[in-house]
Amino acid sequence: MKKVFIKSYGCQMNAYDAERMADVLAREGYAETGAVEEADLVVLNTCHIREKAAEKVYSELGRVRVLKEERKAAGRDTQVVLAGCVAQAEGREIFRRAPVVDVVVGPQSYQNLPALLRQGRGAMDTEFPADDKFDALPALEPARIRGRGVTAFLTVQEGCDKFCTFCVVPYTRGAEVSRPVARILDEARRLTDSGVREVTLIGQNVNAYHGEGPDGAPWTLGRLLHALAEVPGLHRLRYTTSHPRDMDDALIAAHRDLPQLMPYLHLPVQAGSDRVLAAMNRKHTADEYRRIIDRVRAARPDIALTSDFIVGFPGETDAEFEDTMRLIEDVRFAGAFSFKYSSRPGTPAAEIEAQVPESVKTERLARLQERLEAHRQAFNHGTVGRTLDVLLEKAGRHPGQLAGKTPYLQMVQIDGAGLSVGDVVPVRITAAGSNSLFGEAVAGVPAASAA
Ligand code: SF4
Repeated sequence: MKKVFIKSYGCQMNAYDAERMADVLAREGYAETGAVEEADLVVLNTCHIREKAAEKVYSELGRVRVLKEERKAAGRDTQVVLAGCVAQAEGREIFRRAPVVDVVVGPQSYQNLPALLRQGRGAMDTEFPADDKFDALPALEPARIRGRGVTAFLTVQEGCDKFCTFCVVPYTRGAEVSRPVARILDEARRLTDSGVREVTLIGQNVNAYHGEGPDGAPWTLGRLLHALAEVPGLHRLRYTTSHPRDMDDALIAAHRDLPQLMPYLHLPVQAGSDRVLAAMNRKHTADEYRRIIDRVRAARPDIALTSDFIVGFPGETDAEFEDTMRLIEDVRFAGAFSFKYSSRPGTPAAEIEAQVPESVKTERLARLQERLEAHRQAFNHGTVGRTLDVLLEKAGRHPGQLAGKTPYLQMVQIDGAGLSVGDVVPVRITAAGSNSLFGEAVAGVPAASAA
């Protein structure tokens, strides 16, 4: 068997695409390896969201070049593929900047990898094909699913039409495309038939989902979640990443009505100042965001809310940054991802004169992260003493332990005696560490087993 090494950067969508690329290549006789030095084919599935992410790829290519030369000296060829959003954004420039690369393929075209590999050095496909990429991808094979665990991502939507002024996604992933309901239900059944118990629906703007239903009409994400909740063996549903403007009544009601839908919502807000939100083209105010949170919490009072933040967006004043600090105090997120503004080529925000000095960004990020971390710890400590259902996913930190997630996406370590991966067990949370909770399975209460 030829060996392929796939390294994926960035979001869940890239992680999902990397798995599908492995499925496509398996049909060509490639077995996955975790050791890059033994690979006949190296695939870097890249992220373009921030400068640092893109630069990381070129330094990785430097290491791959040395490996390729060493293998060549030993009489073994290595093909190198650059995939993902950097491939889409930089295209043919990559061959000039990194001659080690043989093939460049965008996120919408990796189903064509076998043909591109046969074409050889200089082959490139960064088109946005009219046909649905998923129609050309091989059906998920049970053996390959089983090898990946009891939780899985499932792409339901790709691309984005929002054009936030700091973001490259609409340019690298294209316009919003939603997969048909029937294809998603089919993929979900294949996953659960092979032991998956939790499915996370993913999309760059997942709650803008509008896929064609069996009745020919566009379905919303809320309606799709109801249909997926009927799939036998599917214990848990999650979805990410959402936009505040697409949090409609049906989706919020699903959090009230569907026990399979986990009480967890990742809803990026980015900033707390209305002027900055407008300059970002987010098309909602901070108070409109607060009201959405109120409606979600009215539907599911215990829901864990997480978000994304950018500090130092061009022109952001001290007072506007304080608006962000006020917003996080009002909402008290259970977790968050926060970054300094990173100017991206080709985005409108990169053209704004008033760029914020790096030192100011660093100071603001430190203050923001200190408060966000305090809120995250408070949320975790708030679950100590409670009994929560945990889906056991893997071996725990210590021998004999198993680890899994609560409905709030918190990792928990427990004694695994008599239990198995795939079980959903009631766990009494006994302690909250910095990155994990600790607990004990409630005695005498049978686990909802994987079978
Ligand atoms: S909604 Fe998200 S993916 Fe779309 S442009 Fe804005 S930040 Fe980017």
